[in-house]
Amino acid sequence: MLELIVGAMEAGKTWLIYKKISDAKLMGRKVQVFAYPVHEGQVVSRIGFKSEAITVNTVAEIESSLDPEVELISIDDAQLFDKVDMLNFCSRWRNKTHIIVAGLQLNSFGEKFGAIVELMGVAEYVTVLLGVCEKCKQQTAIISQRYRDVAHTIPITKDDPRIELRKEFYAPVCWKCYVPPR
Ligand SMILES: [Zn+2]
Repeated sequence: MLELIVGAMEAGKTWLIYKKISDAKLMGRKVQVFAYPVHEGQVVSRIGFKSEAITVNTVAEIESSLDPEVELISIDDAQLFDKVDMLNFCSRWRNKTHIIVAGLQLNSFGEKFGAIVELMGVAEYVTVLLGVCEKCKQQTAIISQRYRDVAHTIPITKDDPRIELRKEFYAPVCWKCYVPPR
């Protein structure tokens, strides 16, 4: 089974993963948690929940680390992994185990981010979490706006999506408040 948890930064994706991981462990399930190396061995939500995670740079590393008995695989910030590799991985494993994929569906250019949108289209379950828009303060934030202290941001290219994780330069905003980058 494939389950997607998507939404803007600070929308609660990692919090929801934490709940699902915790519940699965209470039910005695064999769980494996993966994250991109920005997390340094943990999945950490903004409200303080932490879970141990195997940090990996590639989908191949996820696959080579899999326990044959695994019953729940969780992958956080899945938008950062290679799109084709992630799609192929989910196709191969979704009928053998339960996969929870979490990530941002949109980058700050308003484009599809990694494999997330494609995976939403084929998942059994999709949860879209909305954050609080930093501009209008409504619970409608769905995209990241690069605008904090713009004069001091490091150069951005569309080829390096990892910069999206630098929360000091980005904020969650709604479509009404979002201004596309020039
Ligand atoms: Zn707004």
